[in-house]
Formats: sequence, C-alpha cells, structure tokens
Amino acid sequence: MTEEGSGWGECSAYPNARVPDPTVEAVEPAVVDNLVGRLFEACIGGELPPAAVVAATCGAGGSVSQRSVAAALEMAVLDAELRSSSESLTSMLGVARPEVETGELVGIPEGRDLGALVESVGAALEAGARRIRLKIEPGWDHAPLSAIRERFGDAVLQADANGSFEPGSAPGLRGLDAYDLRCLEQPFSADDLHAHRALADTMSTPIALDESLWSLGRVREAVDVGACRVACLKSGRMGGVFAVVAAAEYCARAGVDCFVGGFFETGLGRSVNAAVAGRGEFGLPGDLGDPDRYLEANPFSYLATHRGVVALSDAPGLGAELRAEVLRAQRPHVRRLKYPG
Ligand SMILES: [Mg+2]
Repeated sequence: MTEEGSGWGECSAYPNARVPDPTVEAVEPAVVDNLVGRLFEACIGGELPPAAVVAATCGAGGSVSQRSVAAALEMAVLDAELRSSSESLTSMLGVARPEVETGELVGIPEGRDLGALVESVGAALEAGARRIRLKIEPGWDHAPLSAIRERFGDAVLQADANGSFEPGSAPGLRGLDAYDLRCLEQPFSADDLHAHRALADTMSTPIALDESLWSLGRVREAVDVGACRVACLKSGRMGGVFAVVAAAEYCARAGVDCFVGGFFETGLGRSVNAAVAGRGEFGLPGDLGDPDRYLEANPFSYLATHRGVVALSDAPGLGAELRAEVLRAQRPHVRRLKYPG
C-alpha cells in the first residue's frame, strides 16, 4: 500500500509444492521480512523503485523461496505502478491479442483406471480445452497415451512426467514417439540437463522442461545445451514477470516454443500469467483455467473464460480485482510491515 494507491502481489508457494518449488512453510516470515527490508532500503525519498528492478533489488538471484517472494513484491509494485498510470499489464507487455488459449491438465486417476482417464479427457475436450497435458510416470506411460490417442485422434496432447523417470528408461521413452505428442515434459530430474539433451537427440517428440527452469540463467543454460525445444515458464518460480519475459525472449531467439505453466494461483496470479501468455513467444496454450475450479475461496476475480479461451483485460493494473469479503475471511493471517522512513 502506498500513498498513491494499493498494489497486490501473490507468492506462488503452495502446501504440496515439490522441488524446486517452495512450500508455504519454506517461505518463512524471515525471508519475507528480509526482502521487504531490501525493498524499503531501495526506496529513495519514500518512493518505491520501479517495478522492473524490484525483483533484482529484493534477491531474485537467491534461493527459490527468495525468488517466489521477490516475484510477489514485484507484482504488488507493478500493480500499484500500473494503476497509478492507468495502464493495463497487457499494454505494458506489448500484448496485441485480445485473448489467449488455455489447456487442461489431467492427472493420474485413482487405481490407474484407463476408463476414468478417457472420461476425464473427453470431458475436458468437450469443455473446449485447446490441449491436454497428461501426467505420466513409470508404469503409467504407454497405456494411457495409447488409449487417449486411439480415442481422441486429433487432440493436441502433451505428456508431463514431473521428473519421475531415470535416464536408464530412455529406450522405453523413445517409444512415446508413436503418440504424436506436442511435447514430452520433464522426463528426468530437474538437475539433469545432460540426460534431457541426450534423449532429445534421439526422439522426434520435442522435449519440454519445466522444473529444470528455475531462473533466467538456468533457462539460458538449458537452451544453450539443447536440452529442450519447449519451455514451460512460471513467473513465480523464476522471480517475476520481467524475468519470465526475458526468458521467453531468449527461448524465442533460439527457436524454443514457450507456454505458461501454473501453480494453484488465485485470480490475481493467474491473471498475470494470462497477460504474459499473450506475448508472441508463447505459442502453446497455457495452464490458464479458472481458479474457481480448484479454490474453495478465490480472493481475486479472474478473467472471463469460455470454451478454452481466456479474454485478456485492458483495465488498469494486473487484470484482477480484489474480492474484499473473501479476503476478510483470511484476516487471521495478516502481518503488517511498516516503512521505517
Ligand atoms: Mg510440468
């Protein structure tokens, strides 16, 4: 909150987050206090620094926890900055298109039930999803992909392994070329760019990386070694909107396609993701479905979604509006850090 107005930011940490992403517990109050302290120190004459330098000022070069908090602080300053200059995030990002496409993620059904999987995918396609991203893991790879491909021949399909395979399973993974996948995402552990590069060299299916891409520097490294032809980019993980745009530009110059990945954002974080997805570098549909489907209470409005299409906002700010009555219910968790100046 500033004298000129308010800005809202959202940290991407969530309860069951897996490496490399921070859980809510991992983002300790001390990290928040420390980064807010750095932001205050960077104020000149009580003026906040421009949003474009907030993440770097607050420690986006540090740990994943620091980057997720830095991204939240950047988002809040950006919101206030855009509102005070009556500019929309889409305009600031140079986004020309009025809408973006959204895809659907389909997890591993209880008991690995193929019938239930086919039903879920059918429902998602029926509802207009522009692509289906299927979770796979060792022992749940060929069977689900084959069943879905057989039933939905034209669907745009991605497979996401969340790093669950060992490099030794590369021969079996090569067989996934049979299913005409848009990409095979993160087959191996996040650390292992070499194994991804080796697999990419021997498959026609493009290899995508997600968990491996935890910072702008890491994206450059992965692209430079040829470890991915598709990048799943997440601003909360990478340290904010400016970092993710720089990463997308780097990918585009190297001919690497991008899509916006999601955590379980509220309407605020997801509206930001949708605006970012409007940029030209993002050629694949993102994880941009309505948060009301997975949140019991969403403290921010989200953009209008209809049949796999999300309408971008041209309103001043980030594109989401506070639902004060919903946030009020969260009051027990409020902490106030006051500018010392
Ligand atoms: Mg993924």
